[in-house]
Amino acid sequence: MPNKEMLFIPGPTPVIDEIYDALSSETWAHTDPRFVRIFSEAIQKTKDLFQTDGEVFIIAGSGTLAMEMAIVNVVAPGEKLLVVSQGYFGDRFIDLGRAFGMEVEALQAEWGKQIDPEQVRQKLAEGGFKAVTVTHVDTSTGVAADLEALVPVVKEAGALFILDGVCAAAGVEENMCKGYGNGGAKIDIVLTGSQKAIGVPPGLGIVAFNRSALAAREELGQISAYYTDIKNWLPIMNNPGKYYATPPVNMIYALNKGLEIVMAEGLEARYRRHRALGRAVREALGVYGMKALATEEVAAPTLSCILYPQGVDDAAFRKSLADKGVVVAGALASLAGKAFRIGHMGNVTEEMFGKAIRLIGDTLVELGQPDARDFAVRTFHEVYQSQLKECSSV
Ligand SMILES: *Cc1c(COP(=O)(O)O)cnc(C)c1O
Repeated sequence: MPNKEMLFIPGPTPVIDEIYDALSSETWAHTDPRFVRIFSEAIQKTKDLFQTDGEVFIIAGSGTLAMEMAIVNVVAPGEKLLVVSQGYFGDRFIDLGRAFGMEVEALQAEWGKQIDPEQVRQKLAEGGFKAVTVTHVDTSTGVAADLEALVPVVKEAGALFILDGVCAAAGVEENMCKGYGNGGAKIDIVLTGSQKAIGVPPGLGIVAFNRSALAAREELGQISAYYTDIKNWLPIMNNPGKYYATPPVNMIYALNKGLEIVMAEGLEARYRRHRALGRAVREALGVYGMKALATEEVAAPTLSCILYPQGVDDAAFRKSLADKGVVVAGALASLAGKAFRIGHMGNVTEEMFGKAIRLIGDTLVELGQPDARDFAVRTFHEVYQSQLKECSSV
């Protein structure tokens, strides 16, 4: 399949041919030993991605289903959930928790800023919080959470740390084995979807539970969930030949291939590539007078929310750019019309973004802005290359 559009929205991301080939392979029975082997491999690779000592769950659905699965299995109705929100997707946990009768409290950062960990510490000192949700990269703002500071604060308070990694997993490190802070605090649950930095089409919700999170599920006894109850899925994840609900066979082929590609690149190399790409894209767009909402200290490797310069109309810009083959997304809520969002994650290359930076320049010139194309493209490549070197020396 000749690729295609440069799909630089916050997911889905461009799907490469090997993954399309896997997706369009013959659909075998979900109990066929050949499929069971592929499903087992996909489960193992997902465990490797998150380095979990517990279990992973891969089910048909989207990232939102994975969010639901993460909280309903550890927080009972009436128990306290603290939502640490840095934007639209963080806020989603507020509605989700309330829908299940949880007692939800939220700390919401000003859009474009991080939450102050001290504020989280003070909130948790009120006591009784069962779990805390943190969005690793909030897709509305392009702000990344400070795990180094937040994980220890949450664990010191005795709550479970739930990380929404939908816009980060396989693009930014999410290592459940890693100890944060002096006490070696760890992430308990990570959730994601297939369609963002993993680079597979949408259709899978993926959640990893460590041993503490699995124990928290046990303690709850019966929960008000059926499809999302991890206890129903545990036997299948341990032996994918068993039946609970039919797995999306072709999506599992695609995920297995997608994770094979992730692992072949190497996690460290992939994280480094995303960091370099994020920086280079933002610096290059800066040449056009387009500023990121987030400052570089808190900006995400996977996605940026970019403010328009004076006089650029959002709809005209995105339409003209899409006509040239580069698709970016509008901004949400109060930023709608004032900014656009560009994903730089998954199986994307320096070459693709070099082209995209030029096409963005073409669009701006068409819309009456000054011509800074050569400098912007040069800046992109220079920053990307120097960042790759810099990151590899740490
Ligand atoms: C995209 C996204 C979601 C929602 O995922 P869906 O697959 O659209 O349900 C949740 N959280 C974050 C951080 C996201 O980027």
